[in-house]
Amino acid sequence: MATPKTSQSSSEHDVVVVGAGIAGLMASRHLSKAGYRVVVLEKARGVGGRMATRRIGEAVCDHGAQYFSVKGRAFGSVVSEAQDSLAVMPWCDLFPKSKTAEGPAVEPLDEVGHARWRGAHGMTSLPKYLAQQLSEPVKTKVRVRSLGVQDNAVHLSCENSESVVARAAVLTTPVPQAVEILHSGGLRPPAVDPQVWGALSSVEYTPCFSLMLWLAKPSLLLDPGGLEVCSGPVAWIGDNYKKGISPVPSLTVQATAEFSREHFDAEPSQVENKLIEAVHCWIDGKASDEVRATSLQRWKYAFPVSPIKAPMIAVQNKPPVVCCGDTFGGGRVESAASSGLAAGRWIQRLLG
Ligand SMILES: Cc1cc2nc3c(=O)[nH]c(=O)nc-3n(C[C@H](O)[C@H](O)[C@H](O)COP(=O)(O)OP(=O)(O)OC[C@H]3O[C@@H](n4cnc5c(N)ncnc54)[C@H](O)[C@@H]3O)c2cc1C
Repeated sequence: MATPKTSQSSSEHDVVVVGAGIAGLMASRHLSKAGYRVVVLEKARGVGGRMATRRIGEAVCDHGAQYFSVKGRAFGSVVSEAQDSLAVMPWCDLFPKSKTAEGPAVEPLDEVGHARWRGAHGMTSLPKYLAQQLSEPVKTKVRVRSLGVQDNAVHLSCENSESVVARAAVLTTPVPQAVEILHSGGLRPPAVDPQVWGALSSVEYTPCFSLMLWLAKPSLLLDPGGLEVCSGPVAWIGDNYKKGISPVPSLTVQATAEFSREHFDAEPSQVENKLIEAVHCWIDGKASDEVRATSLQRWKYAFPVSPIKAPMIAVQNKPPVVCCGDTFGGGRVESAASSGLAAGRWIQRLLG
């Protein structure tokens, strides 16, 4: 088994959690509350992962997940606490749909609505709320390179030459990235059960472009400010102003998996132009006059193609190493949260 790279510093923890998206934060919150010493390592500058909110000029845009649903009791009670703390609130029960991005928007008559939730100041509000409850702050701007096992402990090495040693590990990055981390640390067959490795290695994600637009005037989208689109390059149009998170008019336009795949390596300006053209009818006036600023996010790992029907996958038991996240269950915020919680509980059972 590979040994970790030489470290400038090393630390002892009960559990190391890789990734501070909703799965990582649910796992670490559970373990932290149970009294374990938990360290969370996150490569980005802030927490939330794909529950992402960004400012462009004066506009605030959710550019990853747009809303979340609550079906299970465990996630429901976390959301209810977060609501009491004014971190989240219901947005609406149903979004209008349209055949193409040009509309018209119609209420889907054949669907029963259920609460769609949003963060109070954008989707990052819920991850930020969870992160505040940890006994140790999340270590941001720390990218994990490899995870290996030595002397019944997990050893992680990070890009900043830091190394972390712990009794157990929870990997919450999109699964292809977790596979790379494990592979680099020598945790692959024969050390890992080939069936487990096969299941993890076969996970694929679709990409997604998310275009944020700061507009001079409010958009023409109808209440509640979200439109599901059924064909063409656009899958979703969200109005961050109507949603109540942006002080000025702004839209988030999300492309379909097909469009995103096809244009993944195209010039960003070309992608922006195509998406703006596709949604021009919701902009009040000529796009060239009304769009004050743009920002294009290219999510490489947006949605798992075929989610795994298990809450998590144990890579090995001694020391415990587990993969969890939105691949396990359904590719949504709630499935990621439930998977993170399941991984946290599993670690707790094994560590005792
Ligand atoms: C454009 C888009 C729209 C979506 N819309 C919706 C929606 O409306 N409703 C819904 O329910 N879901 C939606 N989703 C899906 C939802 O966002 C995800 O299912 C959920 O947020 C995944 O959470 P996670 O914790 O599993 O993973 P992530 O949020 O991806 O968290 C993983 C974390 O790991 C970190 N990381 C990765 N590699 C490393 C490393 N080497 N070292 C340290 N840290 C690392 C990442 O930076 C990230 O913070 C959307 C997703 C996208 C991309």
